[in-house]
Amino acid sequence: MDLISKLNLKLKAIDEQSLTRRRRVVDTPSAPRLVVDGRPMLAFCSNDYLGLAAHPRVIEALREGASLYGAGSGASHLISGHGRAHDLLEERLAEFVSPYLESPRALSFCTGYMANLAMLTALGDDPDAEIFSESLNHASLIDGARLARASVKVYPHADVEALAALLEASNASTKLVVTDSVFSMDGDLAPLPEMLALCERHGAWLVIDDAHGFGTLGAQGRGALEHFGLRSPNLVYMGTLGKSAGVGGAFVAAHESVIELMIQRARPYIFTTAAPPALAHALLASIDIIGGEEGAQRRAHLQSLIAQLDSELELARWQRPASTTAIQPVIIGSNAEAMCVGARLYEQGLWVPAIRPPTVPLDTARLRITLSAAHTHDEVAQLAAALNELERTWDESQ
Ligand code: PMP
Repeated sequence: MDLISKLNLKLKAIDEQSLTRRRRVVDTPSAPRLVVDGRPMLAFCSNDYLGLAAHPRVIEALREGASLYGAGSGASHLISGHGRAHDLLEERLAEFVSPYLESPRALSFCTGYMANLAMLTALGDDPDAEIFSESLNHASLIDGARLARASVKVYPHADVEALAALLEASNASTKLVVTDSVFSMDGDLAPLPEMLALCERHGAWLVIDDAHGFGTLGAQGRGALEHFGLRSPNLVYMGTLGKSAGVGGAFVAAHESVIELMIQRARPYIFTTAAPPALAHALLASIDIIGGEEGAQRRAHLQSLIAQLDSELELARWQRPASTTAIQPVIIGSNAEAMCVGARLYEQGLWVPAIRPPTVPLDTARLRITLSAAHTHDEVAQLAAALNELERTWDESQ
């Protein structure tokens, strides 16, 4: 069989499991009201939780950043790509999370995926190290753990007792407990205070991926650290900047020695071109909004939309795991049925894509509804009514 035919067989097998993924082309800014493939749609699938991706101040700062610093960085951070804007952003981010960390310093990245690879390979680059990874962790944490030379143990979702037993039994020279704060496909929160107490007792690092918490959790948007009031030298914090911050990129904040080790050793940091400095300049505007009065108002509106969806959705056949965050899953079960529900909503102008394995466990295909401060109460009511009606008439319509 020739090379292309072999690949086509693989693609056919993916399709036969209803697992083929299709991209849609969006012609407008990432606001809830989009034009997709030329058609107006109302989206409930972006991670732009505060609606900053289309915020005039952030867009203006991006323009200004391009005028000041040009289009690209031209090199990696350790050669000549580390711009003034990157440096100011790192200082601002370190200050933003400073109430929660000891001797904090921040390091910026092009993406959260790379930040996680960098963090885990730098801290776990030792065969005697052990990584304790939560079973529902994001793919980038799983891949980072695979890339590190440490051995990996997976503990069941939110199971602090199981984690305690693993830490108790471990003789590793370095222990890293690694978790999402807000689980990306379920929206629930990890029991971080209990986990931090365990980590302190066992001399372990607690590595928190706050991709979905940074900007949305806490009175000032300082994420899971602020929400839970965590404070410890054992904390290593990763926040993404392409979700609530509305631009792109990520950062790791931790004790300055952790950051220095990453600069010296983390290959996903060292061997890649720095992000365009204009993005860092735009992010300074985003962080100002997140930490200010406007950010607080946007978070309050988002919370009222979450409460509204919760009270207006009346589903019996499809399950809704408890979630108090902007991520509101509706578990459908089979891949084919989830695809079908997503398609029916799409026909009505509502964009809520189906999420299937391997992103979620087998037989838990789901709609992942995400809410944003840019949604209105009428829009949330429209989604709830459409889903209630779809479920009520599901059997007859099949
Ligand atoms: N961690 C989590 C929990 C995520 O959901 C994501 C993105 N979906 C990432 C990390 C990766 O971040 P980025 O998109 O900036 O690469």
